[in-house]
Amino acid sequence: MKLARYLVIAIAFVLLSASASCAKDVQTDRRARMIERDIKGRGVSDERVLKAMESIPRHRFVPAFYRDRAYGDHPLPIGEGQTISQPYVVALMTEALALKPGERVLEIGTGSGYQAAVLAEIVDEVYTVEIREGLSKKSDKLLKELGYKNINVKHADGYWGWPEQAPFDAIIITAAANHIPPPLIRQLKEGGRLILPLGPTTFYQVLTLATKHKGGELRLVQMSPVNFVPMTGEAQKGE
Ligand code: SAH
Repeated sequence: MKLARYLVIAIAFVLLSASASCAKDVQTDRRARMIERDIKGRGVSDERVLKAMESIPRHRFVPAFYRDRAYGDHPLPIGEGQTISQPYVVALMTEALALKPGERVLEIGTGSGYQAAVLAEIVDEVYTVEIREGLSKKSDKLLKELGYKNINVKHADGYWGWPEQAPFDAIIITAAANHIPPPLIRQLKEGGRLILPLGPTTFYQVLTLATKHKGGELRLVQMSPVNFVPMTGEAQKGE
């Protein structure tokens, strides 16, 4: 009788772990398809970006309810009215920063932590600032769980950057603003790159890449129309 009970438990255990590993394979397949169709298929070719996105379990960064759609070609809600960006936009912004190993990057708008993970796979050190405490705590916990030791998470208004850790080789702002916060320009190295969705925060914005040249001159290149949630806090003062 006892043996039969053990047998049932053992069979249930095997079935459960088989279904868990099967679900994992489904997500791996979806991720590979996403890379081929939505990332490479749309012209992103930076091997470092592709490799990073191939290895990161994006489904862990979205609420359980949306897990099946984690590899779809769209943003998804992450709570508190915020979103994780569309995978293609994450790839496009990361590629535009032309990152190299050894660099240090600042992100404004941690959100789910996914973009920070993509950066952390490529560069040495990532500093990421999130204005919403709940999201900041949640992403910090997840990034630690996933084993990232080179991501530093801070709960603050990212308008002011992270002066104690400046200067940065690159800065990525993943919330929309109608101007580039001057403190962030100051915290960018000469030769550094900064990317953000620039424009009216209630409508669409233009993905804009700024490069800091000798003497601090900023040169801007407009890339493509995008639609991000607004940068709140100081950025919205006087709007
Ligand atoms: N990069 C995120 C998605 C960003 S969504 C990801 O990979 O999931 C935009 C995020 O910017 C939101 O979480 C929002 O709370 C945050 N945000 C808005 N204004 C901010 C500010 N002034 N400073 C820091 N974070 C800000």
